[in-house]
Order: sequence, then C-alpha cells, then structure tokens
Amino acid sequence: MGGYFGVASKKDCISDLFYGTDYHSHLGTRRGGLAVSNDNGIRRVIHDITNAQFRSKFEDDLAQLHGHVGIGVISDFEDQPLIICSHLGTYAIVTVGKINNTEELIEKALGVKGAHFSEMSGGEINPTEIVANLINAGQTFVEGIQYAQEAIDGSCSMLIMADEGIYAARDKYGRTPLVLGSREDACAATFETTAFPNLEFETTRDLGPGEIVYMTSDGVEQKAKPGDTLQICTFLWVYFGYPSSDYENINTEVVRNRCGRYLAENDDQEVDMVAGIPDSGTAHAVGYANQSQIPYQRPFVKYTPTWPRSFMPQNQKIRNLVAQMKLVPISELIEGQRMMFCEDSIVRGTQLQDTIQRVYAAGAKEIHMRPACPPLTYNCKFLNFSRSRSELDLAARRAIRELEGDTDVDLTRYTNEDSDEYKAMVACIRKRLGLTSLIYQRLDNLVKAVGLPKEKLCTYCWDGCEGCT
Ligand code: SF4
Repeated sequence: MGGYFGVASKKDCISDLFYGTDYHSHLGTRRGGLAVSNDNGIRRVIHDITNAQFRSKFEDDLAQLHGHVGIGVISDFEDQPLIICSHLGTYAIVTVGKINNTEELIEKALGVKGAHFSEMSGGEINPTEIVANLINAGQTFVEGIQYAQEAIDGSCSMLIMADEGIYAARDKYGRTPLVLGSREDACAATFETTAFPNLEFETTRDLGPGEIVYMTSDGVEQKAKPGDTLQICTFLWVYFGYPSSDYENINTEVVRNRCGRYLAENDDQEVDMVAGIPDSGTAHAVGYANQSQIPYQRPFVKYTPTWPRSFMPQNQKIRNLVAQMKLVPISELIEGQRMMFCEDSIVRGTQLQDTIQRVYAAGAKEIHMRPACPPLTYNCKFLNFSRSRSELDLAARRAIRELEGDTDVDLTRYTNEDSDEYKAMVACIRKRLGLTSLIYQRLDNLVKAVGLPKEKLCTYCWDGCEGCT
C-alpha cells in the first residue's frame, strides 16, 4: 500500500523526516525515498528496501541531506519521490493509492502535444508520474490536484513539496488517511500517527476527504475544503494500520480489542486458551480473552530480530518459507489443548493452512478460528495492497467456486451472513483449513468496533458495496 511523511521545520528537518518516514515501513515492501528542499534546490534519495530495512539503507545518506522541508515515502511498487519540472516550478511528489484508469489517463496525456512519460517501474509507467502529469494540467497546484482527484478512478493521496512548503491532499473519498501534526518549531503530515509521539508532534487533525492544505513551518493553510463523502478503508483498523495509530481519532489497537470482544460476545465455544496469530491477530485475541475470561497465551512466538518485515520478499514461495521461519511454536503450550485463535482476516488461507497443520503437529487437540472481519469476497479496487492476487484466489471465492462450479454467481447471497449460502461457504473454508470450528466477525459488529457510521467506511472487500449504507 505505502505510506508518507512530510515535515516543514524552522530547523533542519532531516532527522524528523528520516524517523517519520521509517515509521511507515510496515506499509510497503519495495522502495523507500526521501526528498529535501534547501537553497540549492531539491535533493532526493531512493533505495530498494526489498531485502533491507529502510533505516539501514538511508543512514549513510543523512549527512548529505539538509533542508527545512522534506517529504518521504515507503512504496510498494514504484520509485518515489519524483522530482518534476513544470510550469508550476520544480517540485517533489509522493503518492499513495491505486489508479485503475492508467491507460485512459496516459492516452489522454499523450494526446496533448509535447507530453511524455519518462519514469518507468517494472516496465510500466510510474503511477506517481501520471499523477504529476495531471497536476501539471492545472494553472496552480490546487487546480492541478483537484483535476487529478477528479480524473483518477481509484484513490490517490499525496504530498507535494514546493516553494518552501508542502501541499498535502487526501484522496477524494478519504480511503487513505492524511493527518496533520504540529510542534513548536514544525508542522508535519503523516499517514500513520504512530510517527508523531516520539518525534514530539501533537496530532492537530485529520484532513477531510479531498481536502487540500499548504503547510509551512509557520502553520497550515486550507486550500480546498473537504468533500461530503468519506469512505475510509476499514481494513486499516483490522490489519494494515500500526496499533498505535489513530485514524479519524480512533485508535487501531482499541478497535482490534473491540473486534475480539464482539467475537467473544457471540461465541460460547469451550476452549482452554485464546491466542492470536502474531502479530496482527494479537490485539483481536486480547479483546476476545478479556471478554471471555479465557486465558490468553502465546503458543507461537515470532522471531523478529532477522525477519523484521511482514510482507517481504515478493516471491510467494519464499514468503511462505519466511512466514514459517518466523513463527516458532511452543509445544508445552500446545499439546493436548483446545485452542481458540483470533486472526485479523483470512485472505487466501494458504499460509494459515500451513500454520494450522503445524499446530496440530505440535499436539493441539482442537483448533478454532475467529477472524476479526467477514470473509473477503472482493479484491480491493482502491488501494494497492496486493497487485498480483486474483480475486478467485480469495478463500471465500475458492469456496464459492467449489460449491457452484464456474458459473456466474450472485455473490450477494454469499455476503449475507444469515443465508444458507454463506453458511455453506464458511463450512467449506473451515473444512479446507482443517479447523474444528470457524466463525467470522459479522460486518455490523466490525462497523460497531470501528465506531464510525457505516456510510463513512469503505467495506467493499466484504460486501461489494461502493458507498452504500
Ligand atoms: S476495499 Fe477493503 S481494503 Fe480496499 S479500501 Fe475498501 S475496506 Fe479497504
């Protein structure tokens, strides 16, 4: 998916920029980038972080980077920040989101005399350059950003460093967060508020959907008002987000605890312990254990000193191997036990299937699973959290195919949690995973756990609804 951090400071900003960007490392796997602006112009560094931590890659660059304004990014796919020279001046840009209509936008741009694209990533045109191209169509940055927000099918939040300040623009429907913070000597904009406390920034406010501000070390000026429709990604609280981050002033860890609580409230399964699949299932499991008063245990621990990143590497086979190496079972806590596991979600279920087999091999008597969100039925259209995964690989879709064959299916029958079709699908997933029982969170309880009205949340990947209540 990716994340960004920007800072405008009365002193050198590089330390804030470096650590602020580093706090987004869990959001991307491929590229890290920093750009700073000083009297000599814009200086930029981009590194491949596929097999290394952001900090270790950038540490040696810090001595060469100086300036009062800077933007940084962790990116899943493309090189960023880009430095663009246009009639708007020279600026640096980072983006997070997903553009579904790239071909249409490229064709349209190339139809304009003199237009060209130069940045390539993996044989494709860099999406951030497409965004820059759209912005350059405006007479001002604000006009250009608004043009881009309208033209893009998908989502795109961005930071643009220009003229000693930073334009921060949240995507049209606010699928991704963009939060402002302030300190006596600086202002910052971030995806993850986790970046703020240790850098001594106070959260000021979340930008609204489509809102644009211009930020300098002296403060923040609103350039375009927010729109009326918010569709923030619910999956931020379930999985993507860092536990200490708040979105719309709602803390992620607290929501995960509530998810676990609602799972337990609707469950009378007798078990000996509750555990989370580390790390993302942990907070859900804590909530379940506290509500059910069943002891919380850690029958698996994660070996993190040399496996610090959750998504790396890109190759699925190696990723499975890494996942296996990271999780170390403690057989004394597993043998003969009836175990209740909480998990953030079941995507394809392949890694989970391996994990379940390993728990049985370590002597578990029963394994029950309670995912914190409903079955994922649709691939995300709005965020780039998985470029290659086919929708039909989702555990729910595989189960539906098993039940219905390759025919066209009305998926709403399977997303209705009270339908026989839904029950048959869950039974099919349970069987394939080899679980003793499987009960998913209901969507209304997930919405309740977040605490925003459903119409303000994106729930597309579960119910296929785009802006419905
Ligand atoms: S479809 Fe799912 S993952 Fe994508 S923005 Fe909506 S809630 Fe988030």
